[in-house]
Amino acid sequence: MHKDIATPARTRAILDKYGFSFKKSLGQNFLIDTNILRRIVDHADLTEESGAIEIGPGIGALTEQLARRSKKVLAFEIDQRLLPILEETLSPYPNTTIINEDVLKADLNAAIEREFNGINDIMVVANLPYYVTTPIIMKLLEDKLPIRGIVCMLQKEVADRISARPGTKDYGSLSIAIQYYTEAETAMIVPKTVFVPQPNVDSAVIKLTKRKEPAVTVKSERFFFQVTKSSFAQRRKTLLNNLTSQLPEGKQKKEKILSALEQAEVDPGRRGETLSIEEFARLSDALLPYFS
Ligand code: SAM
Repeated sequence: MHKDIATPARTRAILDKYGFSFKKSLGQNFLIDTNILRRIVDHADLTEESGAIEIGPGIGALTEQLARRSKKVLAFEIDQRLLPILEETLSPYPNTTIINEDVLKADLNAAIEREFNGINDIMVVANLPYYVTTPIIMKLLEDKLPIRGIVCMLQKEVADRISARPGTKDYGSLSIAIQYYTEAETAMIVPKTVFVPQPNVDSAVIKLTKRKEPAVTVKSERFFFQVTKSSFAQRRKTLLNNLTSQLPEGKQKKEKILSALEQAEVDPGRRGETLSIEEFARLSDALLPYFS
């Protein structure tokens, strides 16, 4: 077995050799703890037949662990300066492919089709750049990729919001957007000390397991997400007030919203944070005829 990349000494030696300086604007906080890395990979339940997609391989700390425990790793790295480094650190792992591209702009379905021929079990596993955590996760879900799920490190505060249940302070439109597509759980809390440089915020690893079908069936996905966002526009306001101020203008708007709320059997005085995803689905379907 080759020497691990993710020890403090080896990481320092690699960075020094290439004169690499961290770019804060790219969310570069590298992991230097092999134990944490192995535990992240454990949560992905990979087999020798699995494919892994990584976002932001950095100097290859996680990529290496994934390469040892899967058939193939495909990684997207935006920072061109890391390419020669990765070429060296990942040279013992021919089952890795690095694509120098912004993951938000990448055609992921095409890349999967090209790179994962014959691989049926695919997981995304990543230590995400914190400045774009939510857009990346939403893209992975909205692109409807043929993946089993996502295991990723992110800010603990975002992890709390993603896995929050109705009636809690962290529950909001992000919880609903992600729980619509997946079953979400926080897998572990991670201390700042396992990164270099250390981030300013606490971190957590979440596991998102894709549902076979979305959690609820709605007439219009786009409108459902618009209704949930509108309902949380101002957390202290009631559903009726938020929806009245957020939904598009039209004749007798308030009356229409009241009638949809009644039809969906949702009390207009409730706050968005108390509604289950099923109640939001009912409400969105009842509102749709009035706003389409
Ligand atoms: N995987 C490495 C590790 O765990 O040590 C590095 C993780 S670091 C938190 C995030 C990585 O994502 C950096 O290498 C950064 O350059 C890269 N990155 C940032 N924005 C990106 C984007 N839009 N697309 C692809 N990679 C990106």
